[in-house]
Amino acid sequence: MITLETDITKISRVGAATAKKLKRLGIANIRDLLFYFPWRYDDFSQLTQIDKLEPGKSANIVGQIELIQNKRSWKKRMYITEALVSDGSETLRVVWFNQPFIAQNLKTGDRVSLAGKVEEDYGGVMMTSPVYEKIKIPLTPFVKGGNSAIHTQGLVPNYHLTANLTHKQVRFLIKQVIGLATRMADWLPVGVRRELRLLNLGEAIAKIHFPRSNLDITKARERLAFDELFLIQLESQLIKRELQKSQAWPIKFLEKETKKFVANLPFRLTNAQRQAAWEIIKDISKDKPMVRLLEGDVGSGKTLVACLAMLNAALNGYQAVLMVPTEILAKQHYDSICRFFAGFDIKIGLVTRSSKKMNYELRIMNNKENTKSENHNSLFIIHNSDVIIGTHALIQEKIKFKNLALAIIDEQHRFGVEQRKALIDKTLPQPSSYQREGVRERLMPHLLSMTATPIPRSLALALYGDLDISIINEMPQGRKKIVTQVVPEIKRRQAYNFIRQQIKAGRQAFVICPLIDLSDKLGVKSVEAEYQKLDKEIFPDLTIGKLHGRLKAPAKEKIMQEFLDNKIKVLVSTSVVEVGVDVPNATIMMIEGADRFGLAQIHQFRGRVGRSDYQSYCFLFTESEAEKTLKRLQALVNHHDGFELAKIDLKFRGPGEVYGTAQKGFPELKIASLFDYALMKQARDQAVKLIDQDPSLASWPGLKEKLGEWEGKAHLE
Ligand code: ADP
Ligand code: MG
Repeated sequence: MITLETDITKISRVGAATAKKLKRLGIANIRDLLFYFPWRYDDFSQLTQIDKLEPGKSANIVGQIELIQNKRSWKKRMYITEALVSDGSETLRVVWFNQPFIAQNLKTGDRVSLAGKVEEDYGGVMMTSPVYEKIKIPLTPFVKGGNSAIHTQGLVPNYHLTANLTHKQVRFLIKQVIGLATRMADWLPVGVRRELRLLNLGEAIAKIHFPRSNLDITKARERLAFDELFLIQLESQLIKRELQKSQAWPIKFLEKETKKFVANLPFRLTNAQRQAAWEIIKDISKDKPMVRLLEGDVGSGKTLVACLAMLNAALNGYQAVLMVPTEILAKQHYDSICRFFAGFDIKIGLVTRSSKKMNYELRIMNNKENTKSENHNSLFIIHNSDVIIGTHALIQEKIKFKNLALAIIDEQHRFGVEQRKALIDKTLPQPSSYQREGVRERLMPHLLSMTATPIPRSLALALYGDLDISIINEMPQGRKKIVTQVVPEIKRRQAYNFIRQQIKAGRQAFVICPLIDLSDKLGVKSVEAEYQKLDKEIFPDLTIGKLHGRLKAPAKEKIMQEFLDNKIKVLVSTSVVEVGVDVPNATIMMIEGADRFGLAQIHQFRGRVGRSDYQSYCFLFTESEAEKTLKRLQALVNHHDGFELAKIDLKFRGPGEVYGTAQKGFPELKIASLFDYALMKQARDQAVKLIDQDPSLASWPGLKEKLGEWEGKAHLE
């Protein structure tokens, strides 16, 4: 019997290869599949008679194939599949390129449903590469094609895909198991659901994948968005209450050493950095754990503020840990923090995991030595370091800290709530070593979360349930606004020439390509193709590098290092460079297929340049000529505030298209919007109410279990 826990390979049409691809999307079982939400929908709800088709519009038609054949075009070196489809009102010409198998799948006489954009040429209207599916119902063109069609009729879900998976495949798989959704136990307390009139979980899941109307999407989204906000709220409230009951090691402010550290920096701290650092230092000097969020736009210098706190922790004889979302970033932080701490007697450890292998490193810094060793295991590193930098490898291993007094999470929105919680829980002090004389409460580390999400204080408060917040609202001096341009295709050469000049002057460039989504063959620039082009044709005399998530860690590191050392001049990359990467010498950010990214995300990319006194540039390329797309991208030219940009994005794309995308680079919301003030408030009120009623949550076992999935149940006992 198939259940939610059933392995994905047990359902029809999932072989080893497909399973592997699904795994990359985090889908291992049926439940994962059902929770893989679409991020937008194609609206093919307008079933149109062929003689009423209008060029330029998207439409769905249903008809019978009168003729289908493959041709080989020697000139264009491709296969062309041509078909004629008729619905009684008129006959439509259809072509597909390089998909000769279509002529095997579809035969003369088959009934098909087609969806796509209507075009026009010398011979009248036609469709190029429409999505197609065979349908079984009798041919009644003016009645919707029943519900056997899932790819071409109604509101058709689109998923974020990678690696050769197609929308069709994913829809097909989900369709097979969607019936299980309704049998899903709902963990949300009934009282909450009734009060807010939310759909039950199963219904919401069914409707998010296969909505019948826009109202279905809205209601499904509301429920699922509420879940996200509610769990965040519940978690923050629980952590907050727990920490309020706990004790922490007070970290004494060491003024002399801190001044020495600041004086040694190659730049002056901004006032905002000083202010934030001071708030943190005051907090951690108390014997109550700090729970603070440090917010600052990309490039505002958050790492340094974190360093000031870690310095004080280390010099007080405690441990501090900094967890970051990627290996590249961990390595980079490690290197720069080693540099910052030169001259202090501090041991710094690095813990990352590349595929299955753990990587460790320990550097002992002080006036005389700067030794490096790599031959120890993680436990050795953890025990012998004052400051530990690492990825989520830190929480996967059974790691126990010696005397952890300060935990810092960088780019916190990149971690799931559960991972963040795991860090505090897994670092939960061992009772034996943590027993402080005369203290009965539990000892917990001070917690600092850092994020580049420039959300207003009020909103952050609403979202994170009364956290303490520090904001860096000022950029280091000498930073210039990044000149941003949407570059039309005819000026591409000019842009390359400009890049060449910059490189001649000693600078470097990033070229970002969209996620490699091979299901969408048209117009998507892949890193590989772009790399080949730049390396062979455009800049044959320059060193070009490429970076994407599928490279092994050592390879990634090597490339990053070469880019940092200015050996690689142009780095072609996927969005893996989105977070945190710091290469001050790079002044050009060129983005291909810019229309495929959210504005806030592009703003994050743009934050990779403009990190020095040099004037920096951001060039946006798109193959889309749609006025709306160009206007949307134009917003980046005029706005330099991530939050503002996310808001604009939401306006442009409207619900139904924007889910998940505008917020990319925002907190851990897959489906909720940061702008859902009302829902956010409801989530907060309900969380507070529930915890007031029963702080153990024992009255709602389903909910407790859901939270329990986030590992360490320490604070629920
Ligand atoms: P983010 O807030 O995005 O994490 P970083 O901490 O990576 O920013 O800092 C961005 C760059 O600015 C780094 O190269 C850092 O060394 C530098 N930096 C930090 N503070 C200052 C400052 N006050 N003046 C000049 N440069 C600074
Ligand atoms: Mg950072």
